[in-house]
Amino acid sequence: MHGFSYKNGSLFCEDVDLSTLAAEHGTPLYVYSAGTIIDHYSRLDAAMNGVDHEVAYAVKANSNLSVLRLLATHGAGFDIVSGGELFRVIKAGGDPAHCTFAGVGKTRDEIVYALEQGIYSFNVESEEELRYLNEVAGELGMIAPAAVRVNPNVDAHTHKYISTGKSENKFGVDFTAIADLYDRASRDLPNIKLRGLQMHIGSQLTTIAPFIEAVEKVIPLVTSLKEKHGIEFWSIGGGIGIIYKHSLESGSINWWERQPTEERPLTIERYGKELVPRLKDLGLKILLEPGRYIVGNAGVLLTKCLYEKKGSAKTFKIVDAGMNDLIRPALYEGHHEIVPLLEPASGERAKVDVVGPICESGDFFCQDRELPNFNPGDHVALMSAGAYGFVMASNYNSRPLPAEILVEGATATVVRKRQTLDDLIEGEL
Ligand SMILES: *Cc1c(COP(=O)(O)O)cnc(C)c1O
Repeated sequence: MHGFSYKNGSLFCEDVDLSTLAAEHGTPLYVYSAGTIIDHYSRLDAAMNGVDHEVAYAVKANSNLSVLRLLATHGAGFDIVSGGELFRVIKAGGDPAHCTFAGVGKTRDEIVYALEQGIYSFNVESEEELRYLNEVAGELGMIAPAAVRVNPNVDAHTHKYISTGKSENKFGVDFTAIADLYDRASRDLPNIKLRGLQMHIGSQLTTIAPFIEAVEKVIPLVTSLKEKHGIEFWSIGGGIGIIYKHSLESGSINWWERQPTEERPLTIERYGKELVPRLKDLGLKILLEPGRYIVGNAGVLLTKCLYEKKGSAKTFKIVDAGMNDLIRPALYEGHHEIVPLLEPASGERAKVDVVGPICESGDFFCQDRELPNFNPGDHVALMSAGAYGFVMASNYNSRPLPAEILVEGATATVVRKRQTLDDLIEGEL
């Protein structure tokens, strides 16, 4: 589900009118639906019923403290990729004992911090890193819990920048090298406790097949690691895709509610139905690391149209949000539906480019797309912007970061203030 729909001609987030929020707080403005976040979390949790499991939310998708706090209070663990994310989780009331630490380039400072906080597992991406972790833990007189990330060499059929499970990707250790690595580690690395095995084959997967292929391929390996080394968990990663594209055929009123077109929805129920029977008898705790699935469709970026520029070849709608606020279209051709906050009176459409103010040709939100008409002064929502949105925002072109709002029912709370011009130069000489 998602918490965005038209009510009486105005786009709402739960019971809050987005036009009111835009008027009160200005734009660009991120707005998140708490109900949607919790719905997604709970449905995944329920879909995995029947197998001992834990949902470790991938913090990098959206690391706002209030989002983390919301998930922590509902029992989520966290998958982190930096010391900074661990700091955020702790500040938000999350439990380090339910944190796993991923990433190919952990620094000494990050390792020390995570050891001292007592995280559940370091998810290690190379033998070199495992040896270094052993060394640092030894210096501190500690034992580091660890899992190695296996690269199962499975094609996730997703955009090449978010595919991670093929041999040519920088992530993980080759499938064929894992067994020997665990043998060597248990022999030579006294400060490592081999606690599990991890994998994550890519992001925005919209079919079940790659998940099944990876799980089936790794089951014999994880079974023998359990027998030989007593590992207790297997993290099968995140990557569950969401629907970004919705059909916009004319005439209908609430077109955001309509059926998805190009992307086949991989429902979470299907995900659970296919995976639970394959995982339930392994005697392992199954970790899941969803990011996008939890928050992607729970957020929008509101922006105001500043100008309409009619070129000889194209019509440009210039809006006050730019690629510095939401980089997905520029970075990996991400698609976001663009929806007027005031429901269009007619089904009329025009082919336009919606672009930001940044001095880059890649600064666009859509090109040659048929959209309902909107004019300078009107607001639109860039839908499905809850994951990899604000977290990737930058100050490029010296633009202050947008504010973030969390909606719960009829209550809207500013969970991050808009940056001021003074914030922009904070710490500079
Ligand atoms: C990014 C990442 C995730 C989350 O990916 P989503 O596609 O957002 O679910 C999970 N695990 C690891 C190791 C990651 O790097």
